[in-house]
Amino acid sequence: METMALVVEGLTKSYGDVRALRGVDLEVRAGEIVGFLGPNGAGKTTTIRCLLDLIRPDSGSIRVFGIDPQADPVAVCQQVGYLPGELALEPNQTAAEILRYFSRLRGNRVDWAFVRTLAHRLELDLNLTIKNMSKGNKQKVAVVQALMARPPLLLLDEPTSGLDPLMQQEVYRLIKEAQAGGATVFFSSHIIAEVETIAERVAIIRQGVIVEEAEPEALVNIAVRRLRVRFQEPVEVQPLAAVPGVTILSQDDSVVTVQVAGEMDGLVKALAAYPVSDLETERPSLEEIFLSYYEATGDEQPQIEEAV
Ligand code: ATP
Repeated sequence: METMALVVEGLTKSYGDVRALRGVDLEVRAGEIVGFLGPNGAGKTTTIRCLLDLIRPDSGSIRVFGIDPQADPVAVCQQVGYLPGELALEPNQTAAEILRYFSRLRGNRVDWAFVRTLAHRLELDLNLTIKNMSKGNKQKVAVVQALMARPPLLLLDEPTSGLDPLMQQEVYRLIKEAQAGGATVFFSSHIIAEVETIAERVAIIRQGVIVEEAEPEALVNIAVRRLRVRFQEPVEVQPLAAVPGVTILSQDDSVVTVQVAGEMDGLVKALAAYPVSDLETERPSLEEIFLSYYEATGDEQPQIEEAV
């Protein structure tokens, strides 16, 4: 069994003058859930489409369970449940008819009892005609379509788009259950809370380049954090400012606020020389870290959503 579900190296893609991907490198191990986080236009959809050979990259290499999608797109598609950002559905068909059609494309290997279970859990009436469906219901059809064949790899482009919070939670449960059944999941999102909830690792894309790839917890740990130190009496803080990574943000009588980049060890040892009465730390949220990648270069503020 291949241990890597996805290996992407140096992927580039331009649409005319728009350089959508500028060298994307990415690895997803078999069995993990990886969140692909980035604002509108960062290159998430383009990357996912290249994985399925729906779009040809200009350069770079892709392996999906060891298979090159350009050499054998059918073999790759057989491994994948794909939820596109916008699934075009025939308006006059019912959900059941459409799902039967997708099932036939998969050689009728879909367990229909599982389709009914998925529809029931998502509160989707399979007899509804597409043209009479809300946006959320159409999204549910797309989710069922991606999951129904229990594929080894799920490629989900904004899976909870248009769903209400209860249904979002149900989709998270379904994704976790797919993983428990052995699937690998790679999903794009611009909802940070969503990525924090279900992803074991996160890849952050910015202007067509992956700028970070780590566990959400590790991202929070390597980031800058703030410390508020209350001393028993006003103190001379200059020696603290000399500790590598430490910046004094403010001093108000005996309370000093410092910023620490990286490990805390140096600061903790320096503080041992002082009469400390209290210490409070503030960790940045994943959202603050995400924003910091964009603020650094003065990009437009990314459009991100909080889960409602
Ligand atoms: P979103 O969150 O809005 O879906 P995304 O991260 O998925 O964004 P992409 O859809 O991959 O981003 O788009 C990356 C860049 O490529 C954007 O600047 C977009 O406008 C551009 N782009 C995407 N598809 C096309 C196309 N068919 N023709 C021209 N430009 C395109």
